[in-house]
Amino acid sequence: MIAMTLAQIADVVGGEVVGQAGPVTVTGPVVLDGREAGPGSLFVAFVGERVDGHDHAAQAGESGAVAVLGSRPTELPTVVVDDTRHALQQLAAYVVAEVRRTGGLTVVGLTGSQGKTSTKDLLGAVLGHAAPTVATRGSFNNELGMPLTALRVEPDTRFLVLELGARGKGHIAELTRLVPPDIAVVLNVGQAHLGEFGSQEAIAEAKGELVEALAPTGAAVLNAGDERVAGMARLTAAPVVTFGTGEEADVRVEGLRLDRLGRPSFTLATPQGSVPVTLQVVGAHQALNAAAAAAAALAAGLAPAEIGEALSSVTTLSQWRMELRELADGVIVLNDSYNANPESMRAALDALASIGVAPDVRRTVAVLGEMLELGDSGAAAHEAVGAYAAQRGIDQVLVVGDGARGIAVGAGARSTLVPDNAAAVAWVREHVSEGDAVLFKASRGARLDEVASTLQ
Ligand code: ATP
Ligand code: MG
Repeated sequence: MIAMTLAQIADVVGGEVVGQAGPVTVTGPVVLDGREAGPGSLFVAFVGERVDGHDHAAQAGESGAVAVLGSRPTELPTVVVDDTRHALQQLAAYVVAEVRRTGGLTVVGLTGSQGKTSTKDLLGAVLGHAAPTVATRGSFNNELGMPLTALRVEPDTRFLVLELGARGKGHIAELTRLVPPDIAVVLNVGQAHLGEFGSQEAIAEAKGELVEALAPTGAAVLNAGDERVAGMARLTAAPVVTFGTGEEADVRVEGLRLDRLGRPSFTLATPQGSVPVTLQVVGAHQALNAAAAAAAALAAGLAPAEIGEALSSVTTLSQWRMELRELADGVIVLNDSYNANPESMRAALDALASIGVAPDVRRTVAVLGEMLELGDSGAAAHEAVGAYAAQRGIDQVLVVGDGARGIAVGAGARSTLVPDNAAAVAWVREHVSEGDAVLFKASRGARLDEVASTLQ
């Protein structure tokens, strides 16, 4: 954050300072959890269903918080406002605008149905090689996560990478009004959250709001291979850079190969020259995410050579996304238990199938759970995933939980259905052995990481 006195903060958010003996300066971090506070922190107190943040102000103070932003006075100096969430957003908007004005900051907004976090992690690492960069942690991509991320910018930060999620129309527009993007990246329009949106067209409209928010001096980075995304070019007067695997894309993945553990290497072709890239993350789909990150980095002014080098040096993405482990007992674990929807299930099964080609892999096992939030299309989507696993030749499909039953129907004889995670753990202990490559994947609600951890 930038250093601000409580009086300045109160001015920005339209609040009143209460309980301040002398002038207090906040230097950040801004935290919602008192335990994460440090010297100079601002503790933001929300009234939740079970917990009232204001009751934890003293504890935040012990961890170093110097002040509170909340809706009533606390033991610490407090900026009292009517609407804490709105105040947090106003503060974030102000801090970003200040750093933009005084130091120069390029803001990259990134959305899509799948691959946001992976691409954001790749882009954050690439830009971080060139200049101080702040990027969303994990998937903190909503109306609270975005401001909290934005408030991590320092006076010397030059790039801010924001993962933006949309659960409905107008969500992204609202976030961009607070922090307008200079570069807008749209990855794809899939079926994630189809239940809430009703149609893929509605999903496309919601993601298009990011492109609509660009000034003509900005840049749109669009997936040439996704019709709904490529069509968003008409939503802006800003220049467009496309990425993809086809010839029509400005930034292309060419000559894609996967190593025995499914890690892609390819030539990254750009209008400014071609460079070799060898990713250390797993799955062909990560090559496309890397192309998206590269296109955004080019738009941000980086050169192809530094982009290629930086992409090749990224070793890990956020937790539980295609985490690859080779265990001592000859088992390969692919832990992708962070989340799932039909498109990402297929991408993960592709990755597992490609690992299965390696001579020392005797059997591929997919441990799959329910995909949530699919609305009416849920039953058919689960069957289709099962059928896809069979088509890709996955040897054994363990289906966890009755909600995922359709996968077993689709996968047929190669599948086993167990009722819950405990039964899945028992199955994995009994059946997984040397020479197996095992994928774990389901929506977050299924908590399949609990099953994956029995092997790790
Ligand atoms: P969320 O909406 O949950 O925050 P996200 O958009 O941030 O998701 P990631 O966390 O990067 O996406 O990836 C989610 C899942 O989608 C993972 O299983 C990942 O391997 C897979 N995935 C990533 N990129 C792609 C892609 N381009 N196409 C298909 N699947 C992908
Ligand atoms: Mg995410």
